[in-house]
Amino acid sequence: MRNERGERALTGLPVSPGIAIGPLHLHDPGVVSVRAYPIAGDALEAERGRFRRAVEAALKQIDKLRSRAELLPESAQEAAAALLEVHRQMLSGSRLVRGVDRRIQETAINAEAALEAELAAVVESFQAIADPTIRSRVEDIRGAGQRVLRNLTQTGYQSFARVPAGSIVLAEELTPADAALMDPARIIGFAAAMGGVEGHTAIMARALHLPAVLGVRGLLDAAAGAATVVVDGSEGRIVFDPAPDTLAAFRRRRAAFARQRRRLVAVAALPAVTDDGVEISLNANIDLPAEVDEARVLGADGVGLLRTEIQFMNRDDLPDEEQQYETLRAVVEGLEGRTVTIRTLDIGGDKRAPALAAHFPEGPNPALGLRAIRYSLKVPKLFETQVAAILRAGAHGSIRILLPMLTSVGEVRQARNLIQRVARRLRRQGVAMADPLPPVGAMIETPAAALGADALAAQCDFFAIGTNDLTMYTLAIDRSDEQVANLYNPFHPAVLRLIAFAVTAARERGIPISVCGEIAGDPRFTALLLGLGLRELSMSPGSLPRVKERLRAIDAAEAQGLAARALTAHDAAHVMVLVEHFNAGL
Ligand code: PEP
Ligand code: MG
Repeated sequence: MRNERGERALTGLPVSPGIAIGPLHLHDPGVVSVRAYPIAGDALEAERGRFRRAVEAALKQIDKLRSRAELLPESAQEAAAALLEVHRQMLSGSRLVRGVDRRIQETAINAEAALEAELAAVVESFQAIADPTIRSRVEDIRGAGQRVLRNLTQTGYQSFARVPAGSIVLAEELTPADAALMDPARIIGFAAAMGGVEGHTAIMARALHLPAVLGVRGLLDAAAGAATVVVDGSEGRIVFDPAPDTLAAFRRRRAAFARQRRRLVAVAALPAVTDDGVEISLNANIDLPAEVDEARVLGADGVGLLRTEIQFMNRDDLPDEEQQYETLRAVVEGLEGRTVTIRTLDIGGDKRAPALAAHFPEGPNPALGLRAIRYSLKVPKLFETQVAAILRAGAHGSIRILLPMLTSVGEVRQARNLIQRVARRLRRQGVAMADPLPPVGAMIETPAAALGADALAAQCDFFAIGTNDLTMYTLAIDRSDEQVANLYNPFHPAVLRLIAFAVTAARERGIPISVCGEIAGDPRFTALLLGLGLRELSMSPGSLPRVKERLRAIDAAEAQGLAARALTAHDAAHVMVLVEHFNAGL
């Protein structure tokens, strides 16, 4: 939309915060146009061979890109490696590759047309999946497919090497591999018409600290003839040829953002101690090795929750022991001696793994069905493979093993037996692994686990309270159901009483206890959690500085009074009033 002063403003998804102002560079990947033609029966073998060679060439290119990734800033190297690994897996005997091969044989068409048809089918089936993380893999599939298509049609790649320093890249679509090639010393931000918040392109942008906006409709049309563009990755805005006052306002915000970032990084250096001298351990929740750097920069004492299911969610086969080990090792080594709490697979419910879904059809109520520890114990081979990878990663630093969605001590016993069995095998085979065996802890995220915390404490070395699920299961509210989502409220006294019960059980047994649900990263809850007796919190890295600032203003003894009042409140609204009043006085 052009206003009277000649500026054009568009909106999209804010995927990576910050403001970039500069000349634009239109990235034209020259989408390969494909012509379909029939292949004679006696030439089908040769056509299949041509396709195989194009895939092999793509795998070689990916390996080359991997070595190039070493030139990226440290924060981006792991993200680049992770997404190139995803591309590699998508081209290694995957459904995509098998499907194309079958189409060439069955429909006697050329490899390019078969690839395009298979890509469309795979993309369609992924887009039908409700889970945004899985849906976001569409861009990875397209990226991997386009690479093979380029090889088949011998179309070259356009790199960013000749983009003038200080430019902003605009494109119809940017693959994660494109983002991985961006050198933040030359490219200061990017935007694309396609893409979403959860995709790897967005993850790369955040890892590189590049302001980025994706999903901007009409981006390239609006860019025509423009000299300057502003990418506002905090609010999801794009402005072409801003008027002088608009430009000045963005410059002020850019300076404020830089100051804010410096301030947050400076907070990382401050001790996490309450106003009355109580030390608090602040840890990070992460899913990917790419997040390790940010966790360290923002001052995490360790990783309180490493969710492993992400490794299973973006692919149609299962990661083998070696692949899982490599990913875990990258995190453990990246943390440089700080403890990494590795949670075993929490698949099921709203977290689906395509390769596992094939074995067990979804039950009538997935949140109450075959999920997390139940899944692992039902499929011991899967669990053993993961445990082996975890124990091996433990050879490289300090780790703990965390079991999700427990409801009984029997599950802990079974899991411990399996861990010991795997450890014996690894020892027999002379494989380097965690020694002594890592502590084994329980997620307290069902009412059964919270109310049975005294029994669980006798079997476990530590507790981590998952308030996201604990709230959902206690209040019987499915957060993904919009009709009741407004009733979801972790301030509910029933949830707080379960937390208090688990804290008491842990204290009596002398085992550590933390909270790693979303409320741990929400400063509104900090006083309440400290008051309930928690001394360890784990949250997404970006929340660490704000929670630290908050806790430094809190008097832990006064917070205890707040928690005592909250525990006797009648409803969530009453608790919220108490908490707001307390926080307002800080
Ligand atoms: C939780 O339930 O609070 C938790 C941390 O686990 P997840 O969000 O992965 O289910
Ligand atoms: Mg949970």
